[in-house]
Amino acid sequence: SLHQEKKPSWIKVRLPNDPVFWSTKSLITDLKLVTVCEEAQCPNRWECWGQGTATFMIAGEKCTRACGFCAVKTAKPDALEDDEPYRVAEATRRMKLKHVVITAVARDDLRDGGAEHFQKTIEAVRAMNPGIVIEVLVPDFNDRDWALEMVMAARPHIFNHNLETVERLTPLVRSRAKYDRSLIVLKKAKAMVQGKVATKSGVMLGLGEKHDEILKAMDDLLEHDVTVLTMGQYLRPTPRHLPVVDYLHPDQFAELKQIALDKGFRHVASGPLVRSSYHAADFRPELDIL
Ligand code: SF4
Ligand code: SF4
Repeated sequence: SLHQEKKPSWIKVRLPNDPVFWSTKSLITDLKLVTVCEEAQCPNRWECWGQGTATFMIAGEKCTRACGFCAVKTAKPDALEDDEPYRVAEATRRMKLKHVVITAVARDDLRDGGAEHFQKTIEAVRAMNPGIVIEVLVPDFNDRDWALEMVMAARPHIFNHNLETVERLTPLVRSRAKYDRSLIVLKKAKAMVQGKVATKSGVMLGLGEKHDEILKAMDDLLEHDVTVLTMGQYLRPTPRHLPVVDYLHPDQFAELKQIALDKGFRHVASGPLVRSSYHAADFRPELDIL
């Protein structure tokens, strides 16, 4: 429909012309790193980088999957770079990050799905940045326990894996991923470290899901021991991607946040511009798990 291309006023963001933003940008380029902040043209870049949070994308920019909402290119991925864990650690140090989010494309071409690379990156970041909070945002590793165990062995503080959408829309929105499998991966990750990790998940709204279906997804996540939830507006990256079905009003996001908190989530970020890692540092997991 026509209104799809016309975004409501609360979606528009202007990036302030801040020197910190540009120095950060050049250091990321120097270290040949990829951030989701830039790749996704995330509207929160200035705010996040200024507050000491960034999301690095490791293991290349080419994904073996092709999700209907995602701007990452689908192609045969390149070989892993052995020094990438150290470059991420170095960038984290130079950016003086307090909270780092490490994510990756789905590497279905690798037996471990990139798990060992995650493990090495977590370890390198921690070694060079004492006291930092490390959050991983991982693919499902095709539910291979031994791969998940590699990631958990490096003891991230926050284990984030997104449901992305409600159960009914999963086949339309996500490529190869399964709703149930994602829930199981979240539950297993926590069990592997005897509960000493915060598990987190997120859904995009505006893809045609119904209110009751959102509530069901919340219940399912809680049943799988997930305590941190993010909800944000889906925005179509290009005309080749899934259309936006509706734009939720900020009041609706606020209402959903309250519902989620009432249901029992420990921390909820909900708003039109909320992304998986938006204001990630507001949640201090060590208070919960150490
Ligand atoms: Fe980067 Fe996430 Fe912040 Fe966007 S919300 S700027 S992707 S850390
Ligand atoms: Fe994008 Fe992740 Fe889907 Fe790959 S698996 S297309 S990176 S959302």
